[in-house]
Amino acid sequence: MNIALIAHDTKKELMVQFCIAYCGILSHHSLCATGTTGKLVAEATGLNIFKFLSGSQGGDQQIAARIACNENDLLLFFRDPIHVRPGEPDEASLLRLCDVHNIPVATNIATGEALIHALERGDLDWRNIVNPKR
Ligand code: PGA
Repeated sequence: MNIALIAHDTKKELMVQFCIAYCGILSHHSLCATGTTGKLVAEATGLNIFKFLSGSQGGDQQIAARIACNENDLLLFFRDPIHVRPGEPDEASLLRLCDVHNIPVATNIATGEALIHALERGDLDWRNIVNPKR
């Protein structure tokens, strides 16, 4: 499956720790990320991650475009719910597209853990039926 990773600055260390913990599962899938998130996770885990632009430069929207084209099956987007950011309209649009295209999405680590275990069990294999190319 194609999995996208995005973490706001205050959640990047959390994302790194999450990906270290679940490296074995993630390594069986095709990964992409916004620039800095992808760089940090790749350095910490050795996972092969396609890196889009940084979120502030349009990386969120590149991932949104993949979702709109049904080229992404799962989004792990660890958000900072406290601080206001200039990119929030883009992020709202990204989450809206996940709902439009029925993409499982985790915006915090608790849901991330639930989804990664579901992924491991094969509970998300229905995505292969939605798009049999994978
Ligand atoms: P980044 O982008 O991974 O390039 O920092 C994510 C974000 O929008 O914070």
